[in-house]
Amino acid sequence: MRALVLEEFGGPLIPRELDVPAIGPHEALVRVRNVGVCGTDLKIRAGRMGLDVLPLIMGHEIAGEVAEVGSEVQGFAAGDRVAVNFYVTCGACRYCRQGRDTLCPNMRQHGFSRDGGFAEYMKTPGVNLCKLPDNVPLDKACILGDAVATSYHAVTKKARIDPGTTVALVGVGGVGLHALQMAKLAGGWTIAIDVNQDRLNLARKLGADAVIDAKQGPFHEEVRRLTGGEGVDVVMEFVSNEDTLPSSYRSLRRGGRLVFVGYVPELPMSLMPHEMVRNEYEFLGSRANSKQELEETVALVSQGKIEPVVDRVFSLEDVEEAFDALREGRSLGRNVVAV
Ligand SMILES: [Zn+2]
Ligand SMILES: [Zn+2]
Repeated sequence: MRALVLEEFGGPLIPRELDVPAIGPHEALVRVRNVGVCGTDLKIRAGRMGLDVLPLIMGHEIAGEVAEVGSEVQGFAAGDRVAVNFYVTCGACRYCRQGRDTLCPNMRQHGFSRDGGFAEYMKTPGVNLCKLPDNVPLDKACILGDAVATSYHAVTKKARIDPGTTVALVGVGGVGLHALQMAKLAGGWTIAIDVNQDRLNLARKLGADAVIDAKQGPFHEEVRRLTGGEGVDVVMEFVSNEDTLPSSYRSLRRGGRLVFVGYVPELPMSLMPHEMVRNEYEFLGSRANSKQELEETVALVSQGKIEPVVDRVFSLEDVEEAFDALREGRSLGRNVVAV
């Protein structure tokens, strides 16, 4: 099978001809059709994620068709259209039993520390398969596995958005544009913040109540102006760089929550315990999504309540163009590769 292989951190994705993986009784073989290209992929390639598994087939937002199932896999058969949940967990630890799959200490992730989707075929445990309704096309379904379901988890479990909650979304790229839709669906009043005017226009079309061009400088004053001087109930950070963090902090109203979804590895943030106590600020990390949340996200997309935002679909040969667009902040939503 054709595959793109990362053989050294910072190096190219090298086209290789590999054997189709052999599956065990609890595993399934998936014929990969589409793979989303995520900001985290840039960090994995660059060796900034603290991972040491090489060679590696990257790609963690995966959709395709089941090619074969092991004898113990229930409920799936060859030909089924599926998204692949990229967290491979033990299913037995306290976190798995609580439905907090992404905290499983025994976990591996497709495309991070276990082979992912930049290949014609991949194997995954049968429990990682998520069936797709016919009205969800594969080139959109692939990004549900991270960009869309990550937003769902962040909005419903961490940001805890109720009708009328005011929300600032810092960075409306591949993940933020979906969090915006989720926040609107939950009844939030939303401010989209970005340095890219085209993305802000798209955010408006997707329902943002206000937008702020962060190229103009620190955005917290405009957030405060838009909220009658109060600040917002929730700031969702999809960027977390040295420019955005201070403004995000100063955009919070009393009792506000700052939810981190995106990050820059090893970049710290300073905060004042005195202000945290006085204002009862909450700071929360939000890590991807559980398998259950992926299934709930698929339902929302199938019902037409959330639109997966895909900018362009590239061939596997042109994968570097997708990476370049991401690196240069040019993409409107996700870029996707067809395998
Ligand atoms: Zn990702
Ligand atoms: Zn576990």
